[in-house]
Amino acid sequence: METLKKNQVFKGQVVDLTHEGHGVVKIDRYPVFVPKALTGEEIEFKLIKVNKNFAIGKLLEIFTESKDRVEPPCVYYDKCGGCQLQHLDYQAQLEMKRNQVVNLFHRKGKFTSTPINETIGMMNPWNYRNKSQIPVGQNNDDAPIMGFYRQRSHDIIDMEECLIQDSIQNQLMRMIRALLTEHNVSIYDEKRKEGLLRHVIIRVGYTSREVMVVFVTNGKKFKQAKAMIKQMVEAVPNIKSVIQNINETHSNVIMGKKSKTLYGKDEITDELDSVEFEISDQSFYQINASQTVKLYNNALEYAGLTGEETVLDTYCGIGTIGLYMAEQAKHVYGVEVVPAAIEDAKKNAKLNGYDNTTFVCGKAESVIMDWKQQGIQPDVVMVDPPRKGCDEQFLRTLLELNPKRIVYISCNPSTQQRDAHILAEGYELKEITPVDMFPQTTHIETVALFERK
Ligand code: SAH
Repeated sequence: METLKKNQVFKGQVVDLTHEGHGVVKIDRYPVFVPKALTGEEIEFKLIKVNKNFAIGKLLEIFTESKDRVEPPCVYYDKCGGCQLQHLDYQAQLEMKRNQVVNLFHRKGKFTSTPINETIGMMNPWNYRNKSQIPVGQNNDDAPIMGFYRQRSHDIIDMEECLIQDSIQNQLMRMIRALLTEHNVSIYDEKRKEGLLRHVIIRVGYTSREVMVVFVTNGKKFKQAKAMIKQMVEAVPNIKSVIQNINETHSNVIMGKKSKTLYGKDEITDELDSVEFEISDQSFYQINASQTVKLYNNALEYAGLTGEETVLDTYCGIGTIGLYMAEQAKHVYGVEVVPAAIEDAKKNAKLNGYDNTTFVCGKAESVIMDWKQQGIQPDVVMVDPPRKGCDEQFLRTLLELNPKRIVYISCNPSTQQRDAHILAEGYELKEITPVDMFPQTTHIETVALFERK
């Protein structure tokens, strides 16, 4: 709107929440998005950015509070870019996530007859992350700092703890920061593109409690590592693997391609519902293990296996879903693009004694065509792509393969909704269940069942 200007102050009522968790206030019909404002609240806000079709507002005052507003427990919440929903009651977070899925599939996608279930939530929606990727930097006194980035920036907030990380990761973060000072370790500077240590990645097994620490370095020489590891292992005996990953690029990508083991094993072991997994530093493994069990059980139910089915596990990572299903299937074929993850998947199949599995490294869109040419006729196909969703070629081949059921897991329901329209040429979208894998954040995970028409 032409007449609106930056810094103008308005009062208004919040009518909705966006998928980013921002409150929506209308000035006439022009929308203003106000972070941290909740639906129903009467607020005062200042325009901080005015665009042609919308503006961004800063919340100044709340006159009537939503009954769903809670005090955020984290002291960094106002600055940190990690969480967006700590000020919203957890039950309301679950409802908000379901509403997003309803908006996408019922309103936008016109899948009006597909039931969308309640979001499956956590009993205790804190300390759930089994992997932290912590950037390392320096403050003005050149002392090492560790923590997460400020909203929309690469400034590191020096933190004592993060409430969605596992407590063992918080303990190690504090310890490693002290060791960096003690051993005078060189820290990478993003702007000058100099210095050694870039990130520390900490993974902890949900059932096993085994810990892996990865030091991501710009360069190979890390002479203090040995002494530091000795101190770390003495304090935290659960550490079973310490890896150095070398990333000499100057991009935003966290890990480089080369890793070497500095201490212990090359991977850690974990267990989900008595299926064992080995996880190496570069492999994808679900962040929230207790919710993953619920997600996989839901997927397993949708798959409706009887022991006779040929199953494809596409975008399989370290083979978790396929191995979860192997006992109830005739044969499982998995495909994944990261070589280390496929190596893990093969090891994991052996570890669990599933010889009815085949794992192939490659792009899902091309391997699925190879399988078709080989005459493999799947009964059930599991699909679990990254945020950008599936390649259209992949979906077309899937339609030609014509399995009885497709179970599509997604961490981005908006690309899932796009892909659902292609699958709808041959399939009915029977049901969707949102699963809250990332409490306190706006991220949504869904599992959808498609049945052949
Ligand atoms: N199903 C697994 C992993 C899901 S994450 C689990 O539940 O743990 C998505 C995976 O897709 C990642 O491991 C990523 O490496 C892989 N991937 C991304 N693009 C791909 C492609 N074009 N073909 C095959 N795999 C791909």
